[in-house]
Amino acid sequence: MLWGVFSDVHSNIEALDAVLSLLKERKVKGFVCCGDVVGYGPSPNEAIERLRALERLHIVSGNHDLAVMGKMELSWFNPYARAAAVWTRTVLTKESKAFLDGLPSRAKAKAFSIVHGSPRNPAEEYLLSAQQFLDNADQISVSPCFIGHSHLTYCCRMDPKDPLEVKQELLKDGQKVALGKGEKAVLNPGSVGQPRDRDPRASCGVYDDQKREFQILRADYDIPAVQAKMRAAGLPEFLWKRLARGQ
Ligand code: ZN
Repeated sequence: MLWGVFSDVHSNIEALDAVLSLLKERKVKGFVCCGDVVGYGPSPNEAIERLRALERLHIVSGNHDLAVMGKMELSWFNPYARAAAVWTRTVLTKESKAFLDGLPSRAKAKAFSIVHGSPRNPAEEYLLSAQQFLDNADQISVSPCFIGHSHLTYCCRMDPKDPLEVKQELLKDGQKVALGKGEKAVLNPGSVGQPRDRDPRASCGVYDDQKREFQILRADYDIPAVQAKMRAAGLPEFLWKRLARGQ
C-alpha cells in the first residue's frame, strides 16, 4: 500500500493543498502526518479541516500544536513563533481545538511508527545526527519511524546486525530510499508549510510499505498568496519573508 507522508503543515493551506493533490495523483491510499499542523501560518482552521476530511490518516501532535493548546510552555519558543501561537489561539474554532486536543504524541501502524521530534522526546528533540539516531534506536517500535520537527528531508538508518554502520543523508526532490529487510530507520519528509532547506517548494514523501521504499516529492504552490494572508493577519514579517527563501 502507498502512503502519503507529510509534516509541519504550519497553517499553510496553499502548500497543503499542493501536497495533497500531488499525493492523490500518486494514488496513495492513506496518509501520515508527523505533527505541527498549526503555528507560523495564517490558515489553521482550514488546514485542520482538510486533515479531518482525509481517510486513513495517522497523525501525532507537534510542539506547536501542544503550545497552542496550552500543553507546552510558550517560553520555549522564539518571539516570532510565540506571536504566531498566540494569534492562532485567538482564531481556532471549537472543532479545531477538539482536533488538536485529541492528537497523541506517538502513533504506530503495522508498517511504520510516527513521532514529531524523536522517539525518546517527541515534542522537543531535533533528530539530525547518527549519534542521536543510535540513542533513539531502541525506542523505534516499528521501522521506519516517520519524524518531522527539523523541516529537513532527512534519512538515517542501520542494519541492526551491523550497528556500527549508520547511514544518513538529506534527501533531494525525487530521491528514493529503499530500506533493507529488518533495517531500522527514521525518515523525515521535510515540511509542507515552511521548508528550511533553501528550496521553498512544499515537501512530502510517498512510502510503499511492500517495497519498503520512500521517495521525496516537492510541490510548487502560491507563496505570495500565503504571504499576503500573513501580512493581513499581522503575523511577523520574518515569518512570511522566510517562506520565499525556503529557510
Ligand atoms: Zn515545525
